[in-house]
Amino acid sequence: MFKILLTIAAIYILFKLISNDRKKKKAQEKAAAGQPSQISDEMVKDPICGAYVPKNSDIRVKVGEKVECFCSYDCRDQYLKQLKGKE
Ligand SMILES: [Zn+2]
Repeated sequence: MFKILLTIAAIYILFKLISNDRKKKKAQEKAAAGQPSQISDEMVKDPICGAYVPKNSDIRVKVGEKVECFCSYDCRDQYLKQLKGKE
């Protein structure tokens, strides 16, 4: 009788472990599905102060084919001044 109870307990524990794994997998899938939207929030380095700003920042300057993003209008103005100085 004791052996049967032990077997049932072992099966119960095994079943619990398997169902836990499934829950974890589902959670991982959900996390993976949520990632693409985070990747689109790409960060670009402000060439003046070195701060990282979102690529879709409003403060940006297009130089040829390159687009530089800035943390503030001060940095943008400084960058434009440097550009003028080079020419
Ligand atoms: Zn800056």
